[in-house]
Amino acid sequence: MNETQMNEKKANMDQFIELDVKKLKHIEAERKRLLKFALQSVPDIHFMRCPRCSCRLEEKTIDQISIVICAQCKGLWIHSESLKKVLGLSGDKADNFLKHATK
Ligand SMILES: [Zn+2]
Repeated sequence: MNETQMNEKKANMDQFIELDVKKLKHIEAERKRLLKFALQSVPDIHFMRCPRCSCRLEEKTIDQISIVICAQCKGLWIHSESLKKVLGLSGDKADNFLKHATK
């Protein structure tokens, strides 16, 4: 292989490397775009839905008691430990809890 052929081969290799770099940059940009889209979609995919009306459920914390409530039909889900706290609330505090839970 003479010098001209060597230079030509090196130029071809440089061109291939440049193409590969462009492809890698394109792949990386596409990967970032898809990751961003996937992360934006996660809340919708994994968001809990009301078993009664299929609306999205919202998590609320009222007086350090966590509940999950449907904004549409006001269906309420509560963990047993939180239920014990609710049952321990006295008159006004119980009324206040229900008022804030369902508004
Ligand atoms: Zn509902």
